[in-house]
Amino acid sequence: MQQQDVITKYNLPRTVRFCKLCTVSNQRPRIAFDDNGVCSACNFATFKREKIDWSERERELVDLCNRFRRSDGEFDVIVPCSGGKDGSFVAHQLKHKYGMNPLTVTWAPLSPTEIGRRNLDAFIRSGFDNILGTPNGSTTRKLTRLAFQEVGDPFQPFIYGQTNFPMHISVKHKIPLIMYGENGEVEYGGDMKNAFRPTREIADHDKHYFSGLPPEFWTEHGITAGELKPFMAPPFESIKKNRTEIHFFGYYKFWDPQENFYYCREHTGFQPNSEHSEGTYSKYASLDDRIDGFHYYLAYIKFGIGRTTSDAAHEIRDNKITREEGVALVKRYDGEFPQKYYHEFLDYCGITNEEFHAVIDAWRSDHLWRKVGNGWELKRPVWHERETATGSA
Ligand SMILES: [Zn+2]
Repeated sequence: MQQQDVITKYNLPRTVRFCKLCTVSNQRPRIAFDDNGVCSACNFATFKREKIDWSERERELVDLCNRFRRSDGEFDVIVPCSGGKDGSFVAHQLKHKYGMNPLTVTWAPLSPTEIGRRNLDAFIRSGFDNILGTPNGSTTRKLTRLAFQEVGDPFQPFIYGQTNFPMHISVKHKIPLIMYGENGEVEYGGDMKNAFRPTREIADHDKHYFSGLPPEFWTEHGITAGELKPFMAPPFESIKKNRTEIHFFGYYKFWDPQENFYYCREHTGFQPNSEHSEGTYSKYASLDDRIDGFHYYLAYIKFGIGRTTSDAAHEIRDNKITREEGVALVKRYDGEFPQKYYHEFLDYCGITNEEFHAVIDAWRSDHLWRKVGNGWELKRPVWHERETATGSA
């Protein structure tokens, strides 16, 4: 398998630097660091805590709801929701605090877990209407294998649907308002152009969510346009005609993933997992897909930072843990191999163990990894930082 040029592909700096305040590094695509070595997500978190007038933002939310609210019993807002803590929180707040009538939409996990399905059922039972979109299983498997082999992210087909399916429902049911949870680009570090506005532009979808590759790309790899249709966005003209607007709830209300968890445990029957998800210490975030762990593992391989890095960074910014605790968690969990569903993953994609590792190793860039015996180690993990800072380097 040909070695991938990760640096060029993701426009990464060659020298790894970690944020002074959290655990994230400059290898996260699109993140920026200021002159003090602080990442854009940390700067945004400070801004969020200190500068934003949240009661003013709530007034903006009420205005938005007033603009779209219907009194004829029809749905007036679409909330993309897997039954996890974030979408459920948004749907519950909109319905019970702001008097909206949400239609929740779920794009089916590639390979659902029992706990994920249980949480979705509990959420629906707690008083919500839901449309579940499940794409052709054979096409989805083919796409998952191709996305894993060609772009090093088996989760790509899911992300297509998660992004585009709510727009289809918006157009089809003539419900112009779509409300997502947080803006990941802003909360976790990325393109900050949307940090100070509530909406996201459909034109940014290819770049921010699809790594520059829209579903149409896969016709070059033997998937037909017809097969790809459920993964594609509706025609831009129909979105425009419907006046679809995509907003982030995190713009209007202070976004705190841990608080969302407590809220949903109380209001929507949400249950955390009994064990932590592989690759992180968290028990309550993205529990619903068996393929999920491989998405994060590939990110760890490509960028040297995995799921724990993101989770810990957000909790440091939210003052839930210290940076030192975060670094210890990263050291313990970040590179954990997704063993639990590994054989299922091979089976799902129809690939062998050897093919799997050939893909993984093709994405190991030598600015991040060095070979040690039969294994690999990161050249510059976050927990080595202090040694380097006090040493001669
Ligand atoms: Zn930071």
